[in-house]
Amino acid sequence: MIFYFSATGNSWGEDCTECLACLHLCPVQAIQYGKGTESKGRYKNPNVSIDEMKINK
Ligand code: SF4
Repeated sequence: MIFYFSATGNSWGEDCTECLACLHLCPVQAIQYGKGTESKGRYKNPNVSIDEMKINK
């Protein structure tokens, strides 16, 4: 597991590389890093496509 959703709080799991793509790419800003990101904007590198970020198994 990479990201855990729970009633008591969400957290990143042990397989997370802390790339923060989930935080920056969520269209409704559902992922926050504490209180610090609630009022901050999001960034997506325009030179990297979503397809290039996918894990290929
Ligand atoms: S997108 Fe990045 S930061 Fe978010 S859970 Fe996956 S590895 Fe972790």
